[in-house]
Amino acid sequence: MDTQMLIGATFEAGSETEEAILDPKTGETILRLPEASPAQIDRAVAAAEAAFRTWSRTTPAQRSNYLLKIADAIERDAEGFARLEALNCGKPIGAVLNDEIPAIVDCYRFFAGAVRAMPGQVAGEYLPGHTSMIRRDPIGIVGSIAPWNYPLMMMAWKLAPAIAGGNTVVFKPSEQTPLTALKLARLLADILPEGVVNVVLGQGGSVGNALINHPKIDMVSITGDIATGKKVLQAAAKSVKRTHLELGGKAPVIVYDDADLDAVVNGLRAFGFYNAGQDCTAACRIYAGPKIHDRLVADLSAAVSTIRFNEADDTVNEIGPLISRRQRDRVSSFVERASELSHIEVTTGGKTSGDKGFFFQPTVIAGALQDDEIVRREVFGPVVSVTRFTEPEDAVAWANDSDYGLASSVWTKDVSKAMETAARLRYGCTWINTHFMLVNEMPHGGLKQSGYGKDLSTYALEDYTAVRHVMVAHG
Ligand code: NAD
Repeated sequence: MDTQMLIGATFEAGSETEEAILDPKTGETILRLPEASPAQIDRAVAAAEAAFRTWSRTTPAQRSNYLLKIADAIERDAEGFARLEALNCGKPIGAVLNDEIPAIVDCYRFFAGAVRAMPGQVAGEYLPGHTSMIRRDPIGIVGSIAPWNYPLMMMAWKLAPAIAGGNTVVFKPSEQTPLTALKLARLLADILPEGVVNVVLGQGGSVGNALINHPKIDMVSITGDIATGKKVLQAAAKSVKRTHLELGGKAPVIVYDDADLDAVVNGLRAFGFYNAGQDCTAACRIYAGPKIHDRLVADLSAAVSTIRFNEADDTVNEIGPLISRRQRDRVSSFVERASELSHIEVTTGGKTSGDKGFFFQPTVIAGALQDDEIVRREVFGPVVSVTRFTEPEDAVAWANDSDYGLASSVWTKDVSKAMETAARLRYGCTWINTHFMLVNEMPHGGLKQSGYGKDLSTYALEDYTAVRHVMVAHG
């Protein structure tokens, strides 16, 4: 197992406090990894700064070739990456191997192509005797900070557009899930010029905090909690750094009476519980019309009770445990507080599961009202709430009545109603008759407190490049 950080061209262990990396399926310690010291962080930033001088002058075609090599290297060792990610996150191996790794490989390939075909405004004479043109140039050194729910995928979402755009990166994985980042660092050191990507380990409050405050870092890209995003903004204000924020969600799902009930139930069973609900787009806040509500609650509860998890044969598991005891206890306390309300019924699940690891039963909470905590706060676990609506107006108003604005969905057979609702939802994404599906060509990112950075798509390349104007006076 790779355990060392990548700083410039050298691999080295951190020299500060050790973090226990746990297997969430058993709660046992896999290994302990020391975090980076302030001097190591400074050297990583210096390596990125030195690399920027040449990397920023490479052609899109050159960078594209590097990205293609990264994609090929991950694909060649897909099983090794999948095993390690499954171990560190507790994910079912099939989910990592069949869903995540192909999307990760494709992410590097997408940006390899996209950077060679960036569109732009035409050059022209907007002032007589002068020609103006627009350039898109790299921003500089990006401090990238990732969460624990999809470690290797978040790394791809952050690295691929950043280095495609000509930036260099100091990357910090979540302190809970650094293992695949360390494995990828070995491949990156063989493929990329020295210092283009550096990987440092450590907690948010120490190493993360040092990165977001580092005077030589030009841009901070972070996926995490709203509270963490606010800290990034405060730190960025000191030196006016660019920020790219992806900060969680609480996705509303509007189910109109005319929706295909089976499709809704199958969709929610899959998209509300994938990755044990530790997903910022999880279909977790359901609003059901008056005629479909009761059948939806009954069928969904029955379907969710069949979700397989914590079985000895991992190939049959559909979801894994929560990432940590703390996260499991947090989910458990949300459900406990909800179940104390007289109008709420926990129709399936509701309890922790097993005597080891951090498992929580897939849970459906019926009878939830708009102002209930379970409807308003991000649970980040295998828990969905169902709220009945009578007036469609209420459904849209309630869906929008949230601090979050990342993802949403509408389920109906009426195309006009679907389009009208989609137009009114204040979310970065609205799916119609599906949920959760991402493609590398389309942007992912939020409104409101979910943040404003766009991952994936050419919009991410725009986020990681600066628009510049060059004007030539004719002689
Ligand atoms: P978190 O905010 O606690 O941590 C995310 C990362 O930020 C970690 O690497 C952590 O070490 C670092 N960090 C924490 N405090 C920091 C600080 N003061 N300075 C600098 N860095 C700091 O979030 P998490 O618990 O790892 O992840 C779960 C959260 O991420 C959820 O809220 C989830 O919705 C969100 N998320 C959002 C998206 C999205 O695309 N919008 C995707 C995945 C996860």
